[in-house]
Amino acid sequence: MNLTELLLGLVALVMAVPTAYLVRLTVEARTRVQAWVTLFLLAMMGEMWVGAIVYARTPSESSAVGALAATGALMAATVALLFVALIRSRASRPASASDRFAGPHALSAWYRALAVAIVLASEGMMAYAFLVATATPTIVGGLGGSAGLVASVVVSPWFVFPMGLEMGIATALLWSRLSAPLRAILPVQAAIMLLTPTAIGSAAWVTASIALGSVGMIAVIVYVMEHIYRHREIPSALGTYLLRILAAYALMMAGLLLWLVDHTPVWLAASIVVEMVVYFWAVLAPEGFRSDERFAWQLRADWTFGLLAAIFVGELFMGAVLDLVLLPGVYGSAFPSLPLAGGAGTILYDALYNAFWFLVVVTGSTWFLAMMGAEMGVLVLLKLRETVSKENKVRLALVMGSYAAFATFFPSYYYSALFPKAPAGTAVPVLGWSMGFGSAPVVPSFFLVIFLTYLIVGSLTILFGRRVVCGVFCTAALMYGGTTFDAMSSFNRTSPSARKYLGSRFSNLYSATTGVTMAALVAVSFLSYFDATGRISVSVLGADPSVFFFSLSFGVLWFLIFVTIPYTGNYNCVTMGWCYTGTIAGAIGRVGLFKLKVRDKGVCKSCTTLDCAKACPVGLVDMPGHFRTKGEFRSSKCCGIGNCVGACPYGNLYVSDVRHWVRRRLGVDDPKNDDVPLPMVHTRPRGSPGSAPSVHAATIVPPRQGAVGRA
Ligand code: SF4
Ligand code: SF4
Repeated sequence: MNLTELLLGLVALVMAVPTAYLVRLTVEARTRVQAWVTLFLLAMMGEMWVGAIVYARTPSESSAVGALAATGALMAATVALLFVALIRSRASRPASASDRFAGPHALSAWYRALAVAIVLASEGMMAYAFLVATATPTIVGGLGGSAGLVASVVVSPWFVFPMGLEMGIATALLWSRLSAPLRAILPVQAAIMLLTPTAIGSAAWVTASIALGSVGMIAVIVYVMEHIYRHREIPSALGTYLLRILAAYALMMAGLLLWLVDHTPVWLAASIVVEMVVYFWAVLAPEGFRSDERFAWQLRADWTFGLLAAIFVGELFMGAVLDLVLLPGVYGSAFPSLPLAGGAGTILYDALYNAFWFLVVVTGSTWFLAMMGAEMGVLVLLKLRETVSKENKVRLALVMGSYAAFATFFPSYYYSALFPKAPAGTAVPVLGWSMGFGSAPVVPSFFLVIFLTYLIVGSLTILFGRRVVCGVFCTAALMYGGTTFDAMSSFNRTSPSARKYLGSRFSNLYSATTGVTMAALVAVSFLSYFDATGRISVSVLGADPSVFFFSLSFGVLWFLIFVTIPYTGNYNCVTMGWCYTGTIAGAIGRVGLFKLKVRDKGVCKSCTTLDCAKACPVGLVDMPGHFRTKGEFRSSKCCGIGNCVGACPYGNLYVSDVRHWVRRRLGVDDPKNDDVPLPMVHTRPRGSPGSAPSVHAATIVPPRQGAVGRA
């Protein structure tokens, strides 16, 4: 950094303070005059940079005169506009009316838009003036013209550092006015602005800023998810802000990826502007975030879908960016990039090929899975903290351990470290999501792996139920297991589409989906075998048929369906029956030892809460009926998540598996899930000890406070 840059840097830092203070004055304006005058001062601060630009481009005596003239003309025009605005605002009110107005939250959208535009333009002009003064080229990524100019200004240190500083100072100055969510997110927004990778041209900075910025975004996502879990009703202004900021981060990550791949910062620049606008739009009207105008997000499928979609797109690109930056040797050339040239058919095929394999590569990549694991793992940890049942605590701990082992450590590190020369297909994780068919072409050497996989998983499933797969080993167990996603089980009952899959019976729709999926699995397995043994030659989108089917199921479809939870319900891979791994596990579990049992059918007959059914994330709403008639319930759809056990307000429900079976065989008392410290039912008629339980005699202790939804 030379002396000029140092001085300009100091000027930029100094300018950030009054700008942030003027933003605060704008928010705190108590009269229309104050509001307009503040805007006027903001505009003045920007206009002085016009003169600086004129002079800096061609320093001379005549350009100095031109600079003065340009600045003077702009300032005069602004003063004239201010007068017009003030006169109009006075004329629009009765003469006797007070000059005071309702407060900052009464600022119109137009006023806010003007304020944001002025701050943006002002920062842009300052940054451009400094770029010219330091003779920095403004053609970037091969882009010239106005797009290249604007992009190079926005991604420059002269724009992002002062802007990040202003955002931080404005947040501090307005702290007392901010609601809790804004206090949590706005400082991160400012930090992410400061961590723009393009600001400093060093590889270390690019890596560090991307890694730290990603941590910030993950923190925001976790905070947002947990906040909406704790607050089922949120202010409308907050709902809108959350969608916007998450969409801005999705755009930012997409822009970063493009910048890393082809050095074009246009989309990144656009995302920086969007993030800044979202920030100031929120900051200029903080009172709206405390408004009584609220909505229940569990009743707003569209809003929740928007939130999940924005988060997923952001995570997808974040995963790709982290892969490229942190593991360039592995992912440097892993993303497909067929040229979009030739006839329409070729272009369509190449575009489909690129999009499909991009999704598959990223969603199965090291950093995408690690980042998702960190994010969802925190939500599972929070769920674990509020879980009462010891059994479920253990299950949640196993979920986190399984994810860490089978989604990240084993596939990404263990096999390659242990067997660096192992041929593809032999490094298939025996357990985990990529288990069994599709994780490699069906060749004879693969049979042993397949056999071992199904032997181990199948045996465990017979002993402990489908939860071995869908409730522990599968990556989905972590994704669905956290607090917020658990709360999304409500969509299983409120969404018209999800309601079609409620209950343990196999609806026509469910049977059709499962039938097609299983038939496809058989077909692609045979095709793969014949192809691998040289009898036929077949591939789909350039891949072995079974590998393609696996990639489609778990690299694309699963995530697409995941974000549609508000429309298709929670655990939709199970309820809709399209996952072949889950279907196989369900079929094995159906003949196993796992079932749900109640201690007393009479209690269920008297129960009016049916909390067990309400808490079921798979939507098995018919379980109370089975408890009342048979005292137990078994369904191949049941994933053994165990929410129902914790939700039963009478502690009447428990999970029965091989442990109970062995105890019964040995003649040891069945523990009946006595790890749940709940108020018990008095199942005996008062005053007649020893008599058999009866429905009429059962006295039910009132449900515990807050029992619903706790597992
Ligand atoms: S149905 Fe399939 S994707 Fe869903 S939890 Fe079970 S194994 Fe995982
Ligand atoms: S909530 Fe408990 S008592 Fe009520 S039906 Fe379910 S298991 Fe029976």
